[in-house]
Amino acid sequence: MTIPQKKEYAGIDYFRLIAAFLVVAIHTSPLSGLNETADFVLTRVLARVAVPFFFMVSGFFLFSKTEAEKLNFYGLAVLLKKTAFLYGIAILLYLPLNIYAGTLGEWRCLPNLLKDIVFDGTFYHLWYLPAAIFGACIAWLLLKRLPSRQAFIISLILYIVGLFGDSYYGISEKIPFLKAVYQNLFWFSDYTRNGLFFAPVFFMLGALLARQTKRIPLQTCLIGLAVSFVFMLTEGLLLHSLKLPKHDSMYLMLLPCMFFLFQSLHFWKGKNPKYLRNLSMLIYLIHPAVIVVVRGFAKATGLQRLLIDNSVIHYLAVASGSFAAAIVLVMILNRKRTHKSNSMQRHKDRVWAEINMLNLRHNVQVLRDALPVGCEIMAVIKANAYGHGAAEISAYLHRIGVDSVAVATIDEAIYLRRKGTKGEILILGYTSEARTSELFRYRLSQTVVDAEHARELNRFGKPIQIHIKVDTGMNRLGENYRHVSEIASIFDCENLKVRGIFSHMCVSDSTETGNVAFTKAQIQHFYELLDGLKAKHIQLPKIHIQSSYGVLNYPELQCSYARIGIALYGVLSTFDAQTKCSLDLRPVLALKSKVVLARTIESGESVGYGREFVAERETKVAVISTGYADGFPRSLSTGKGHVLIHGCRAPIIGRICMDQLMADVTGLPDIKRGDVVTLIGKDGSEEITAEQVAVNAGTITNELLSRLSNRLERVFLDL
Ligand SMILES: *Cc1c(COP(=O)(O)O)cnc(C)c1O
Repeated sequence: MTIPQKKEYAGIDYFRLIAAFLVVAIHTSPLSGLNETADFVLTRVLARVAVPFFFMVSGFFLFSKTEAEKLNFYGLAVLLKKTAFLYGIAILLYLPLNIYAGTLGEWRCLPNLLKDIVFDGTFYHLWYLPAAIFGACIAWLLLKRLPSRQAFIISLILYIVGLFGDSYYGISEKIPFLKAVYQNLFWFSDYTRNGLFFAPVFFMLGALLARQTKRIPLQTCLIGLAVSFVFMLTEGLLLHSLKLPKHDSMYLMLLPCMFFLFQSLHFWKGKNPKYLRNLSMLIYLIHPAVIVVVRGFAKATGLQRLLIDNSVIHYLAVASGSFAAAIVLVMILNRKRTHKSNSMQRHKDRVWAEINMLNLRHNVQVLRDALPVGCEIMAVIKANAYGHGAAEISAYLHRIGVDSVAVATIDEAIYLRRKGTKGEILILGYTSEARTSELFRYRLSQTVVDAEHARELNRFGKPIQIHIKVDTGMNRLGENYRHVSEIASIFDCENLKVRGIFSHMCVSDSTETGNVAFTKAQIQHFYELLDGLKAKHIQLPKIHIQSSYGVLNYPELQCSYARIGIALYGVLSTFDAQTKCSLDLRPVLALKSKVVLARTIESGESVGYGREFVAERETKVAVISTGYADGFPRSLSTGKGHVLIHGCRAPIIGRICMDQLMADVTGLPDIKRGDVVTLIGKDGSEEITAEQVAVNAGTITNELLSRLSNRLERVFLDL
């Protein structure tokens, strides 16, 4: 399918650590005591891959989407927020050293302070963070506005401008005009190695690699890497001997070198410890402080000769010190996080839904395979993701490359935005004109339910994203498909950004001849309308018509999206559903509860409200802490429903109460308080499917699941 799945890139993650140690080398010159040239090669040439590598990684993950129009602002916003936050912390962390070094005096002159904050960093290594911010923004804007080739060329030009203010500065210096230009540039930033000239091209390279469809074979990559590295070495040594560099961060050959390096690492996929990413960043941020500590320690203990004068030992001391400090910090941060998640994860002691994310991921894969190329999943996560927990489901879907979601109401949409959902959120239901400002503020996409609704939204005066709903026979929401001019007029509303046009089918779940004919007519009406719009020279936005059953029975339709709800959760609406294609979907949700009391009653005693169950023999009754207020249908009372305990089926007896239900566990071995009860899901070899429960309750799974109440705990497995 078109969206690449996010994989575990072990090679890239492990190299982050190497890159961090290379940066430490740049700032400690480990070989300087042995051989100047060797040190030059290590710190001024080899280690120069480190920072570009970090930029490329950011670019790679930021832009791992295929089309430019899919660039969403939220990915960028998250990166910027994180980086700015880190930068803020780092500035504070290094403030004492700034004070000690007397930089504060320089900052009395405001331009100096601004220059440091914006470009050069307030401490020598901190330039990286503002550069990451600038680089990401520039690359993002270029890719948003221009075809990727042009965007890349512009970033390349910026890099070349930078080159002549860096290791090729000796040449510019000899040309009076260039010299003047660079002198002016240096007024803003001490180096051209910054977010404007240096970073964008590497973000762009990362983006290029993320989007490339054909991979170069590993062997070619490695040869390319070796060759370009030799050239870079030659370049570096040559420039050095000619005394051209003002600074030595930027080489021409660094670009092919990085390209091949990244490509080669990219081949190494697999699991890696999650904390690697944070670890390298922490080492990067703290190592200058560790240098100070090591020096202080050496001075205090009189070990200068060993710890400072011996460059190799100095490097090892700083590197291991930084590594140890970073590990301690990661552990502290992780402990905080697990503490938080422990306190969030309640105790599974009453009734809870287990949400299996691996099954969700499996279903996404199966559905993607079933859809034609170019058609993406729009995940329908209305009604708290059919009871599964919308915020977590949407975050997980985003991680596996599903970026468009649909909900029913504006409040559901705002909830998701506030919880950090990125990408497009389409509101399928009606939103009144009074709430248009919220549509704008939260960048939501609104379904317009008829042409009049479109005009109402247009009156707001600021751009609103919409999808046009077309009614093709269901007679629920949507402008009638025959009203071509009315629908065309929506495209003329100057404040409406039409991102999609769609219809909904009302009997696509049925394979009965009459219903198939009706559905085909609906589809035909929809496409006729689209043709009518094309005839009016309207450029069509994204189109979508299938929901779950639309995909299962009409998989051949070529749309931009399929709005998939129930199938994503691995169940069908009913029990004996006949569909054209049968997919291997796996249920995501299991509903579990506990026995709170087990008692034995005599023959003739009754159980529960209305005394509907009367024991005909000595009966063992288990009281289970689930009721209809938890979303378990009351219609499953007496004779309609079962539960599983210890892998055995036990019938529900008496009326289901608001907060409890009772089951007959006579003959089941050793039932006691605290035993786990399965209401939906598997226990041993027995299974109660959501479809069975729904049919027994006289409804469909859609209703059963979406009514699961917020009183349930939700436990996410494999998140
Ligand atoms: C709920 C809904 C869907 C999803 O339907 P499923 O059958 O659960 O896949 C799709 N489109 C619209 C308009 C909906 O309201």
